[in-house]
This record gives sequence, structure tokens and C-alpha cells, in this order.
Amino acid sequence: MTLRRAAKLPLLIGIAASALVVSVFYVSVYQDFNTGIEETERVKSTLAKTLASRTQVRMQNEIQILELAAKLPQVQSTTFSHLISEEFKGIPPNADPEKRAVQNAIFQEFRDFETVAFLMPNGDVYSVEPSEFQKNLPVVNFAYRDYFIKTTSTQRTYVSEIFRSTATDHNTVVISTPVFRDGALVGVLVGSMNLDVLNKALQTLELGRNEVAVLVDRDGMGIASSERSANSQTKAHSYSYLGNIVEDIRDGKEGVSEVPVNGTAMHVTYAPVELSGNRWAVLLIQPSEDAFSEAYLHQRQAIAIAAIVVAVMGISEYILFRAMLRNLKLADRLEDLNEALKTSNSDLKKEKVRLESLSNELQAKNSHLEYLAHELDLKAEQLQKIDAAKEEFAAMITHELKTPLVPIIGFAELLSDGTLGELTPLQREKVQLMHGSAISLSNLITDLLDIRKLELNKMKFDMIESSVNEFLERAVGSFKPLAESKKISLTYNVQAEKEPNGTLNLICDPKRIQQVLHNLLSNAIKFVPEKTGRIEVSARRIPDDGSIEFGVRDNGIGIPVEKQNEIFKKFYQVDTSLRRAMGGSGLGLAISKGIVEAHGGTIWFESVPGVGTTFYFSIPARPALGNGSNDSK
Ligand code: ADP
Repeated sequence: MTLRRAAKLPLLIGIAASALVVSVFYVSVYQDFNTGIEETERVKSTLAKTLASRTQVRMQNEIQILELAAKLPQVQSTTFSHLISEEFKGIPPNADPEKRAVQNAIFQEFRDFETVAFLMPNGDVYSVEPSEFQKNLPVVNFAYRDYFIKTTSTQRTYVSEIFRSTATDHNTVVISTPVFRDGALVGVLVGSMNLDVLNKALQTLELGRNEVAVLVDRDGMGIASSERSANSQTKAHSYSYLGNIVEDIRDGKEGVSEVPVNGTAMHVTYAPVELSGNRWAVLLIQPSEDAFSEAYLHQRQAIAIAAIVVAVMGISEYILFRAMLRNLKLADRLEDLNEALKTSNSDLKKEKVRLESLSNELQAKNSHLEYLAHELDLKAEQLQKIDAAKEEFAAMITHELKTPLVPIIGFAELLSDGTLGELTPLQREKVQLMHGSAISLSNLITDLLDIRKLELNKMKFDMIESSVNEFLERAVGSFKPLAESKKISLTYNVQAEKEPNGTLNLICDPKRIQQVLHNLLSNAIKFVPEKTGRIEVSARRIPDDGSIEFGVRDNGIGIPVEKQNEIFKKFYQVDTSLRRAMGGSGLGLAISKGIVEAHGGTIWFESVPGVGTTFYFSIPARPALGNGSNDSK
């Protein structure tokens, strides 16, 4: 335990060291910060004062020129006052050219002035230059203006309040000076300044982020501003919210202050502008955050560095402490582990014995399974043998059924054609009936054999290149007599114009394809009406894939829609009563489908009940044998 306590010592030393580092840091950061702020304030105050004195010099210049002009004899003589009339709002434009020349010269020389006017001691307008302003004056007496009142009462030059000029309709400031002759007031010389002159001077300044420089009068009303939007047309902006600062301005003090404006702390630096009989001030206004952003940034960086130092020190101390503790714990743990190992060793021994007995059991089970598998193999072999025997039996039965029919059919033919002696008409009729039945039976057995072979995939196909033209010719030829006897039209058509030698060739088992055609034709003949029946057999090559498409079209009874899905099934017949009349086993289409599909082809039909049916089948250009499906079971 004492060891553990000792391990805490480095941690405590670490904490003390961190605290020391932080304090040293804090003191230096604080000093840095203060120096930064003082520096910023110094720069600002210099700028404010410079701006104030620049404005003052400018205004003083204007004051001086007006005061000088007031001393000129041509200004002091007012010999043409009798010419003042309502029509000219003063004297006519061409009267008293000498005084007008002085006014003009001031105006020309000092572009700051917009107009220079001479007023009579009663406030009446005498002359205004440029003279178009005189023409447009809305009033002819200015005795009511503050500058007139102040100048005449104090008999000194006066810089006016900011007002909206009636002549020019924008914010204006006026400098007015009294004109004396022989000690008596003979008039007032007035120069009016468009405040845009002062706006422009401020708007060319390079200021800080969000910083504005403004010129205000003694009431805190804006005279000019560095903001781009400010001009003499805009309504004068009031800075009276600056509170105490306005009082300082009135008292002609300079200074620095921080005032909240709409929730933002604004740093304001101000310096007075002294004018004859009036006082203005220059203000530099900037959000404190921006004004001291650099100092704040330094402060934040320093704090961040201190935090990192403390964190790194803290983490290293902690790791060290943990490592020491861990070493102590490790010894305890090793002891415990040793004990545990001893116990688990004996457990393992027990487990080993159990696993050995399990393994023996598994071996026994395994040999039993092997025995069972062997048994199963034997059974499967037996089943295969039984299957083969069944196959053979079925084939044999079918074959044996056909064999006896051969002599029956042969003798029936000999009897009916009279080779074995003349028969009575009744005898011949019965023998022919017997012959027909034997043939039907033989056909049925052949069909049964075929369907069986197809189902077992045992049907053999001899693939050779065969002429489709020949198929059709032969198939149609064999049905011709029957068709003629029923007066049914039976034609065929092979589209072979583009084929070499004009014959359509196909690789297939010709006998089986013949068989398909035979089935389809025999169905067609069964279901077309006598006399009007029409059957067309056709064959053509499909350009897309080179396959050959056969078609057997009839105008027979058609296949009812609801039966159309069934007719390829084994033993299926649409109408079993008709079967009796027409013959057939219901196997023909199933066999045809089997043969076509074994060639890799497809069989389908289109049928409209009462209109007719067309059966199609297509055989690929290169049939792959064995594609047939046996789903017609
Ligand atoms: P079947 O040996 O009885 O003719 P198929 O398998 O050849 O047996 O034909 C099945 C059934 O399909 C026929 O019974 C018949 O009802 C119908 N069928 C086949 N071809 C036509 C056809 N061209 N017109 C009308 N029905 C047909």
C-alpha cells in the first residue's frame, strides 16, 4: 500500500508543474493582450485626430477666403440695392458685375462651395453665384436662418448647423461672415457647401473591418460618413445614442469609449473639430470584437497552447501513474493466475478423458453409417435393375403386340384384293373392316412406342442434311388421294428463292420431321369440311437466325379457346365423340412436340374456332440434339 501511495507522488508533482506553467503563461498572455489593446487605441486616436485637424484646416481655409473677400471694396459697396426685385429674386444677373466677379472667383477657386451669396443686412438676397441658383430661389429673405441670426448678432464668422437647402434640396452647411463698411454692417457673405465634399473625403479612407469614420455636429447629427451609401441626399443620421460622448464633443474633448449598440459593444474614438462659432467631431466607430481582433486572436492562441501543454503533461502523468499501478497489480495477478492454472490443469485432464471416450463412440457410429451407406448403394443398384427389367418388359410387350398384326394385315389385304379367291361383297366389306382395324391398332402401338422412347430420351435421330422441298412434296403427295376423294384442296409452298439451287436444306432426322408433318396433315384433313376444305403447307427460312419454319394451315373447325392449353398433352382430344368418327389416339401432337423439341425447335399454333387452325414448328439451322423436353407426359 505504501508503494501505491508513492506512485501518486509523480502525479502530484505533475499537477503542480502544470499549474506553474499555466500561471506563467497567463501572466505573459495578459500582458501581451493589454499591449495589443493599447497599441490599437493609440493608432485609432491618432487617426481620429488627424482626420479632425484635416477637416478643421479645410473649413478654416473656406472661412479665411470668405473673411478676406468681405474686406474687398467691391464687396463692401452695395450701391445697386435699389435694383433688388421680386422678378430677379435679388439684383438682375448683369447688375453689379464687380461684386459678382468676387463671388464667382471664390466659387471657382474653392470647389467646396456650391454657391456664394451676398445678403442685405435685413436678410434680403442681393446676389447669388452661380446666378441660376438665384433665379430658382424659393424665398428671397434668409433672416430666419441660424447663420444669418448668429452672424448679425455676434458680428463674427459663423459655421452653420446642417440643414436641407431650399435652393439645392440636399444637406448643406453654410459659412457666413459679416461685411462692414465704415464700421457699419452692410451685408452678409455666405458660402454654402454641399456635404458630399466631406463624404467623399471620408469615403477614400482605408479603415479596419466594420469600421466607420463619421463627422458629427455638436448634437451628434451626422454631417458626413465613410459609409459608401452616405451622401448629401440621405437624411442626416443621428449618433445621439453615443450618450456621454455627445457631451464630450460639446465640451471639445477627445477620448475613447465603449458603448453598446443593438447588443454589440462598439469601440468609439473621437476628436473635436473647432470651427468659428461652432464645433464638430470626428468619430471612429468599430465593433470592439473587430477592433481588437488581433489581440483577441493572440490571446486565444496562447490559451489554446497552454491547454495543449497542460493536457499533454496531464496525460503523460496519468500514463506513468497507471503503468506503476499496473506493475503492482501485475504481481498480485500473477499469483492468482498460477493458482488458476493449477486448477484448470486438472480440469483439462478430466476433459481429455471425456473427449477420448466421445471419440470412441463416434468411431462406432461412423462404421455403422458406412454400413448403412453400403446397404443403400445395393438397394439403388437393385432398383436400377428392376427399372431396366420393366423397360424391357414394356418394350417387349409393345413389340410383341405388333408382331401378330403383320400376318393379320397381310392376309386381310390378300383376301380383299381377291388373290386368295373371290369373296362375296359382304365378305369383302367385313375383311376390309378387319384390315382397317388392324392398321389402326398397329399405328396406335407405334405411337405408344414412340411416346415412350421420347419420354425416356431413348428415341434415336439420324441427322442428315435433307431437302425441305422433298419433305413437303412427299407429305402432300401421300395425302393427295385422300384429299381428292373428299374434294379438299391441298397445296404446298416452299420459299426457297434465295437459297442455293433453289432448295431449302435442313439438318434433321428426315423420317421424324416427316412424321411430324404427317401428324399435322392428318389432323388438318380430319377437321376441314369436305368439298370446301383447304389446306396449305408451307416452309420458309427465318432470316434472323437461319431456322426453318413449317406451317400447316387449314380452314377447319378450329380449337376452342379453353382447350388450347391442353392439346399437346398425351391422349388429349378435344371431343372424344369425334375421335370415333375421325380416328386418332390423342398422341399425335404429343409425339410431334417431342420430336421437334428433341431437335431443339418449338411447336405452336394459332386457331380461331369456326375459321381454322395453323400449326407451326421451327427447327434451328444447326439443331443440338437432346434439347427436347418431355413435359407432355
Ligand atoms: P389425335 O390422334 O386424336 O388427332 P392429336 O394429338 O394429333 O391426337 O390431336 C389432339 C387433339 O387436338 C385432336 O383430337 C383435336 O381435337 C385437336 N386438333 C389437332 N389438330 C387440329 C386441327 N387442325 N383442327 C382442329 N382440332 C385439332
